[in-house]
Amino acid sequence: MIRTFSREVRLASRPVGMPTQANFELVRVEVPPLENHQVLVRNTFMSVDPYMRGRMNEGPSYVPAFAVGEGLSGAAVGEIVESRDSEFKQGDAVTSNFGWRDYFVASPEQLQPISHEVEPPSTYLGALGMTGMTAWVGLNLVELKKGETLYISGAAGAVGTVAGQLAHLRGCRVIGSTGSPKKVRFLRDQCGFDVAFDYNEGPISEQLKVEAPDGIDVYFDNVGGAALEGALNALRIHGRVASCGSISGYNDAVPSPGPKNLFEIIRKRLTIKGFIVGDWLDSRGAFQREVGAYVQEGLLKNKETVVEGIDHAVDAFLGLFRGENFGKMVVKLP
Ligand code: NDP
Repeated sequence: MIRTFSREVRLASRPVGMPTQANFELVRVEVPPLENHQVLVRNTFMSVDPYMRGRMNEGPSYVPAFAVGEGLSGAAVGEIVESRDSEFKQGDAVTSNFGWRDYFVASPEQLQPISHEVEPPSTYLGALGMTGMTAWVGLNLVELKKGETLYISGAAGAVGTVAGQLAHLRGCRVIGSTGSPKKVRFLRDQCGFDVAFDYNEGPISEQLKVEAPDGIDVYFDNVGGAALEGALNALRIHGRVASCGSISGYNDAVPSPGPKNLFEIIRKRLTIKGFIVGDWLDSRGAFQREVGAYVQEGLLKNKETVVEGIDHAVDAFLGLFRGENFGKMVVKLP
């Protein structure tokens, strides 16, 4: 019998503030032999996501905490290497939640088959994966309409690039903010944003006043903090907010004070909808049909930054908090 070994990334200790390499360890483990109705999968791409930071803290985030000393998990794309189940055969491509490792053994119900026709397969971690669906759910929740002006913070990332492109396809004027001039150009030239600005170049309220002098109808919040404060000032009466994430605070050892202008919610009669994409899994078919068609037709581009090798997976994860990704951050596993 051939023995299979896998490397997996484990949480070595709980980070306080910004995580460091010392909070993780890469360990070589033997993969157990297959039992009936199990398959062996080799990961080809794995996802790193900001929400994983919350799982590294003690106590539950909106998903359970990672255990210290155990392998991390997260979305991944892989290929069946060996199958002892009739549902999957060698060479089939799948997504799973068994990221952060080279190989794993799973039951068919833990895997979702994906098409070989979509290239690259990492699209199923980005535009056609959890982050793309997050953008789609958030825009649907606030009932974005043709002709409206939308502001997206964290616009150059996985969720933001899809939200911006989808809003553009729906006939909206799309404004995005991001953290560098290069990413501003990326938003304008490659993601079809009408307007993009660098939040380091001045207060967000002031930049929004210039770019949207009549205000914004909808705010898609990936960042929280100063971006939320700026958006609350820019929103029109009866404006809507899709509260998706708050990355500016994920590494705060002590929570930062909230926006100073929360009274704007009342004065402007705003509607703020928080959501978790995992609550919308029943809508996955509708999402894949709509966004899948846009991707196949080339109307929506999957934007990604690819880091090579599981030994650089932690760098890729930390890079999310340093703004190193253009589009979805993924790790390619050889
Ligand atoms: P991204 O691909 O956007 O990666 C993170 C980006 O956030 C970085 O590239 C950086 O871009 C920006 N960033 C990092 N630190 C800060 C900071 N302190 N202040 C401002 N910007 C910062 O991540 P995702 O697209 O995967 O996720 C975006 C948001 O959506 C996150 O808050 C995430 O938690 C949330 N989310 C929520 C889901 C839900 O179900 N509600 C599901 C998935 C994601 P820049 O260079 O522009 O600073």
